[in-house]
Amino acid sequence: MVLVPVSTVSTRNHPTDSWRIQRPTIQYDKCIRCMICWKYCPDNAIEIENGDESAPNERIAKMEYPVINYSFCKGCGICANECPEKCIDMEFEVIE
Ligand code: SF4
Ligand code: SF4
Repeated sequence: MVLVPVSTVSTRNHPTDSWRIQRPTIQYDKCIRCMICWKYCPDNAIEIENGDESAPNERIAKMEYPVINYSFCKGCGICANECPEKCIDMEFEVIE
């Protein structure tokens, strides 16, 4: 049996912007686009974008890459924990 983290109430119905304590940030220069973060995020807060000129850097401009939707990310850190390249940083949220 394979266990994966899931939640019964998705933050998709409850925006997290106002209460998240930590914020994940992807270091795109190290990301290998394995999409493990996307698979493990319990709230579908990681989306897959098609690479184009708006990509965060040239390296991934022609490939699909993960993007964190901060409206629904709850800052649980599962993505950072599971990333095989350890290229997702968790930092304290700063509300301006
Ligand atoms: S798990 Fe890490 S290396 Fe894989 S796509 Fe996500 S950020 Fe990139
Ligand atoms: S910290 Fe990562 S795994 Fe947790 S909700 Fe945010 S994007 Fe998803």
